[in-house]
Amino acid sequence: MPKLRLYNTLTRKLETFDPFNSNLVKVYTCGPTVYSQPHVGNFAAYVYWDLMVRTLEANDYKVERVINLTDVGHLVSDGDDGEDKLEKGARKSGKTVWEVAEYYISAFQKDFRRLQLREPTSWARATDYIDEDIAIVDLLTKKGYTYETTDGVYFDTSKFEAYADFAKLQLDQLRAGARVEFSNEKKNPSDFAVWKFIQPGEQHAMRWDYLGRPGYPGWHLECSTIIHNLLGETIDIHTGGIDHIPVHHTNEIAQSEAAFDKKLAKYWLHCNFLTVDGEKISKSLGNIYTIDDLVKQGYSPLDFKMWVLQGHYQTERDFSLEQLESARVRRLNWRNRIALCHQGQQKTVTPNQYEKILAALDDNLNSPQAFAAIDEAGNGDIKFWQYIDKLFGLSLLHDAPVLTDEQEKLINQRASARNKKDFARSDELRQQLADDNISISDTPDGQVWGYVR
Ligand code: AMP
Ligand code: ZN
Repeated sequence: MPKLRLYNTLTRKLETFDPFNSNLVKVYTCGPTVYSQPHVGNFAAYVYWDLMVRTLEANDYKVERVINLTDVGHLVSDGDDGEDKLEKGARKSGKTVWEVAEYYISAFQKDFRRLQLREPTSWARATDYIDEDIAIVDLLTKKGYTYETTDGVYFDTSKFEAYADFAKLQLDQLRAGARVEFSNEKKNPSDFAVWKFIQPGEQHAMRWDYLGRPGYPGWHLECSTIIHNLLGETIDIHTGGIDHIPVHHTNEIAQSEAAFDKKLAKYWLHCNFLTVDGEKISKSLGNIYTIDDLVKQGYSPLDFKMWVLQGHYQTERDFSLEQLESARVRRLNWRNRIALCHQGQQKTVTPNQYEKILAALDDNLNSPQAFAAIDEAGNGDIKFWQYIDKLFGLSLLHDAPVLTDEQEKLINQRASARNKKDFARSDELRQQLADDNISISDTPDGQVWGYVR
């Protein structure tokens, strides 16, 4: 009996998850644009989708997943105007666009791994799929969905009847609102480029020949192309940020479904946005935190992951260092419960308690509720913490090592110094252990050790 329920943006309903193939789930996640250092806002999204993948796996599904890397043609605005972000990044850094993309793909994947996010089956670079993009533009043109302007090949959204459905767009209002600046050759304000032409004299290093002129794909196209080529006609789950609903995902659906006459995805999941210290994340406010910034402040990337998972993916969240500190303390508390297990103070977790944790995740990925159930489970035992690590990828066991022989020796010496009431020596040993990240507390049953950080 399927028990996983997910909120589907397509129907605006919580639905019981029922994949096309009984045990293989095909997932596509819109990936990063790779022209600048990714920040905590970007990674919150990938942490939520990691939780989704791990929840699917905990329900015995096998997951085939693709994440794209937008290394071409993503313009500064969500529409089709403005500068290419990669070209802009390259100009600022004096590197080629290819070097900029390479650099930020590595940076992104490095942080992705530090956050212990489940690796997708494939990473797909947009520039590796140009011929396949062109095949789709040709197909759309053959089916009468496109028209050419001086600056590109556009998708005529009036020909795709369901265009407004996904985002519940009010096309009339869009038309009225856009009338003033709507003066180019587009037939409808919502029409979008599936291919852009590079104008004579325009600086654009990434270019491919199509229709006898240099150009590059419109940025929505890569996702449709990559899904079609790597995952097939209809996938089970498509994920992205809520910002993707009105334009990017709406356009993905239009071009894929127009081209292939098949539903693009059965379930669409969208995560909410992060603010930092109550403000939108932006360069001008200087409130961009990268994972490296958090590490420099003494945090583990997994403390950040812990913080993300303390909230629900559909909730708007405000990040601050104080918030991160409280997540660090909670993760330390869990590691110290493992330390108690190492000291023989484990407590078997009942099947009911295990069920409560998975039931929370099965309820539309309710990680805050799952965390509350973990808090309630007490010390647990090593098997329990292995299960928790598998479910969340928090590296709790790895970061809760058993004592080394040397630490064990110092702890025993400290106990005997205290028994002899040699408090000076006992304090000295406590300090020595603290320097090695081992804390000691005295309880009525004797001394107990844990981790300082
Ligand atoms: P970008 O690479 O800048 O296009 O960002 C990729 C995606 O990261 C965006 O489309 C959003 O879905 C997500 N994202 C960006 N900023 C935030 C934020 N502050 N909070 C949550 N997600 C974000
Ligand atoms: Zn996409």
